[in-house]
Amino acid sequence: MSTLRIVWLYPDLLSTYGDRGNLLVLAHRARARGIDVEPMQVRSDQRVPHSADMYLIGGGEDGPQAVAADRLLQDGALNRAAEAGKPILAICAGYQLLGSSFYANGRAYEGLNILDLRSDRGPSRAVGEIAGDAAPQLGIGQITGFENHGGRTHLGEAVQPLARVTAGIGNDGATEGAWAGHVIGTYMHGPGLARNPRLADLLLAWAIGVDPSQLPPIDDTWPERLRAERFQALSTAQ
Ligand code: GLN
Repeated sequence: MSTLRIVWLYPDLLSTYGDRGNLLVLAHRARARGIDVEPMQVRSDQRVPHSADMYLIGGGEDGPQAVAADRLLQDGALNRAAEAGKPILAICAGYQLLGSSFYANGRAYEGLNILDLRSDRGPSRAVGEIAGDAAPQLGIGQITGFENHGGRTHLGEAVQPLARVTAGIGNDGATEGAWAGHVIGTYMHGPGLARNPRLADLLLAWAIGVDPSQLPPIDDTWPERLRAERFQALSTAQ
């Protein structure tokens, strides 16, 4: 692969929580391995490119979330990217809109049906640190992040939970996020990939078609120390 093209979707709608940091983390970690990166920011009034190698979408408030879902449904390219096996990382509002339906502004909206899940409203807003044990098949260990959402997400049979929750709420207090194929959805802001470098490398490995173990190591002392510290603090606070 000559250049890794990473699309950051809809910065004009879904960038409320600093999730664009995920793009910066991926670009940094790819370049550190000698991989050229072309970051592409695609606004909601632009067509989503078909030819990218990875797609990222962030969180946001209810209004922009509903607009984003509508435009992505009309565009169709994100669905085709998922069908083609392209890695997609979706955070919070972006995660919810990948399901069959989500709840915003007091009513249900149609989602993209990329992940077999649906979201409704919970009894209270989930705000604070979240931690969990990621699905063993992903080989990324424990994950931590920050969550801030009113929705609750119910997984269907065609997806697996990204993690079992050990602190915080995530989907429903038991599981956090979901994945199927190369599509990952999560409630972890933070940005999520700054706090979970192994998740970043998993996505990079999927995008370039190698096993994560084949990526040359990066000195992750500081992010790993932060992750371990947060995990420890959250576990002892239980
Ligand atoms: N508006 C959605 C909710 O509250 C998503 C929020 C977010 O992206 N942080 O559930």
